[in-house]
Amino acid sequence: MPSKPILRFAPSPNGFLHLGHAYSALVVERWAKQLGGSWILRIEDIDPGRSKPEFVTAIFEDLHWLGLKWPEPVMVQSQRLETYKAAAGQLAAVGLLYPCFCTRAEIRGASNGQTDPDGAPLYPGTCKALSNVQIKQKLEAGIPAQYRLDTGKALEKTGMLTFTVVQPTPLKRPKITYAKPERWGDVVIQRKDTPTSYHLAVVVDDASQNITHVTRGRDLEAVTDIHILLQFLLGLTSPLYTFHKLILDDKKSKLSKSRDSQSLRDLREEGWTAKAVRARLGF
Ligand code: GLU
Repeated sequence: MPSKPILRFAPSPNGFLHLGHAYSALVVERWAKQLGGSWILRIEDIDPGRSKPEFVTAIFEDLHWLGLKWPEPVMVQSQRLETYKAAAGQLAAVGLLYPCFCTRAEIRGASNGQTDPDGAPLYPGTCKALSNVQIKQKLEAGIPAQYRLDTGKALEKTGMLTFTVVQPTPLKRPKITYAKPERWGDVVIQRKDTPTSYHLAVVVDDASQNITHVTRGRDLEAVTDIHILLQFLLGLTSPLYTFHKLILDDKKSKLSKSRDSQSLRDLREEGWTAKAVRARLGF
């Protein structure tokens, strides 16, 4: 029997939530209701440099203030590092991961101006040429390594992959889209500072929480290429995808924590009610 629809809202506690997050959470809530399903909250705190406990507390407070409710306990990614290590181990066991010792500056230099869809320098695979002896020496010398997916080799195994995009409002026919993981190059699967990456953690968790409809902003549409590839390699079922519009500021830029966009708590302090915030976002 097909499982009931389960959606998720999965913020990263790297700052306070802003209107863009509120919109995303409200889209998830509404879409889950329309489908006769449910949604869960997940805390994506794998970034040791940026995640802060006070932002986790604020996520709970701000979402409650908006009137949202979700089942407890909430999955917290920083508590699941062993699970991510095991998934990376699965990829390593079939020869799809390799250590990379390059610094950011080295990657920028080697990329020859080529970029990935996010505009970051495209890694040209420098460390793929290292011999086992060289790798051993570097690891023994304590040079920090990140582990990358050999995307070309992975694609030889998988062949062409597709994913299905569904759009709830207005309802449109599902669209089959080709994944293009090659445009991301050899992505990082395990970072230098933590034994996972956003891509690995999100794919593992969506599967373990039986998420049927991944709903996120259009800014995350392109990374689906990698997620579909990882799902296939790890033997996980791919969910359906919905990409919603982004909420822009007065200058037509995407709201962002790093650009100091006005947070929900700023709005609350200015006297906005949750009802007014919902109405401003079309809910
Ligand atoms: N944690 C991610 C973020 O806050 C989004 C997760 C996802 O939808 O994959 O940007």
